[in-house]
Amino acid sequence: MIAVFKKKELEFLGSKKESDNVYSFQFKKGQDLTWEAGQHGLFTITHKKIKSGTKPFSVASAPKEDTIRITTKINDTPSEYKKALLELKPGMTITMSGPVGAFHLKADSPTILIAGGIGITPFRSILKQLDLEGNSNQKPIHLLYMDSDKSYIFKDELNDIANSTSISVTYFDSRDRLYNEIDKYMQLYKDNEKYFIAGPKSMVDSVSAYLQENKVSKQKIKKDVLYGY
Ligand SMILES: Cc1cc2nc3c(=O)[nH]c(=O)nc-3n(C[C@H](O)[C@H](O)[C@H](O)COP(=O)(O)OP(=O)(O)OC[C@H]3O[C@@H](n4cnc5c(N)ncnc54)[C@H](O)[C@@H]3O)c2cc1C
Repeated sequence: MIAVFKKKELEFLGSKKESDNVYSFQFKKGQDLTWEAGQHGLFTITHKKIKSGTKPFSVASAPKEDTIRITTKINDTPSEYKKALLELKPGMTITMSGPVGAFHLKADSPTILIAGGIGITPFRSILKQLDLEGNSNQKPIHLLYMDSDKSYIFKDELNDIANSTSISVTYFDSRDRLYNEIDKYMQLYKDNEKYFIAGPKSMVDSVSAYLQENKVSKQKIKKDVLYGY
């Protein structure tokens, strides 16, 4: 436990604009650092003193990739924290504690992954890891990616993963269409499937409520709420 919360220094490698207001930040991965795909870390700005200098982010890279990546929304009036992220230059450092969290896949039954907007970050890690491991014995996995702005980050990478594995990826811009798709899987898998939901709290709560109204038990639903949105 103590090792988990020990802060590790991460060297900044570079950033990438994923869409109008979404950026990825990549850091060098120390040899002693590993995580389970889907977990998050607590990342602290260290090059200057700011209020709320530590925030949780899902690790969007897969353990089999050789960098730590966080991907986040940055609007026109960024918080001090996000301004500080944008100031990073290669060679500068931040710290990370963790990884923590139980949002990781146990592929022992068909699994429906449901992402709302920026909630795609833990699923990028999970799917990339499955792709890199090349595990062909997986039960069916379906990613349902909902974004009302149709700004689907990682779309090219996700489509590549769908093309090279048995994982299916479907995009939605309305809750009704998403629910229709969920209905299809409920009928197909007849209560043998599991659900993973990640996104802002309102989205996670309403999808989870929809599943439970349709008699999916709480035990079959794993949630990752990106508090702060
Ligand atoms: C388990 C977990 C995983 C998470 N994973 C992710 C992830 O992968 N990606 C991700 O993006 N988030 C993730 N989050 C949420 C993340 O921790 C932040 O809460 C979120 O990104 C909002 O950060 P912020 O700095 O913009 O928020 P806040 O500081 O709350 O700011 C919100 C908004 O207020 C305005 N604002 C705040 N301060 C100022 C200022 N000084 N000047 C001007 N405007 C200001 C800005 O418009 C800002 O966007 C996760 C949270 C949890 C709990």
